[in-house]
Amino acid sequence: MNFKDDEIKVLISRDEIAEKVAEAARELSEIYKGKNVVVVPLLRGAFIFASDLVRVMNTDVQVEFIGASSYGDATVTSGEVRLTQDTALPLSGRNVLIVEDIVDTGLTLAYIQRLILSRKPASRRTIVLLDKKIKRQVDVQLDNILFEIPDMFVFGYGLDSPGGYNRNLPDIMAVKN
Ligand code: IMP
Repeated sequence: MNFKDDEIKVLISRDEIAEKVAEAARELSEIYKGKNVVVVPLLRGAFIFASDLVRVMNTDVQVEFIGASSYGDATVTSGEVRLTQDTALPLSGRNVLIVEDIVDTGLTLAYIQRLILSRKPASRRTIVLLDKKIKRQVDVQLDNILFEIPDMFVFGYGLDSPGGYNRNLPDIMAVKN
């Protein structure tokens, strides 16, 4: 889906994002002070958020990727999650920080959190860029939420739009009502 310029708007600007990312990074640097943390971005949407975040975190980090995608049509999840990539290193005994772009129903994240917990990490936290709380179907533990947003489809800053090529937009965009 390719949108015309007058159909979309900036929902959250790059400056607002950078400010919140820096704030979260400061908090995480305190939490993980003197510790090693394995940052686990969920591919693909969280790759830009995670790369901005780790660059302002003042702590010893390793990065391991998990790829998850849920079956369904372009905008509505079926709730059935498919693992498309797994970590290369074991997470057992490690401090794991899951980085997710957006939580909608919560089904994808709940699946990943269960998977990570089964590997017996020393600690587990989850940071999410965007929370569509109103859409939640299952309980998920979110330790840091940067922005709560209404039920609208968003893209840019790592997030894709159906069939589009919009992940590289620097701001978070939304379709106008
Ligand atoms: P959930 O399993 O329903 O919580 O959906 C989470 C996943 O759906 C995210 O990781 C995104 O890949 C995708 N998603 C949900 N809402 C949006 C959106 O507004 N824009 C882009 N992707 C979205």
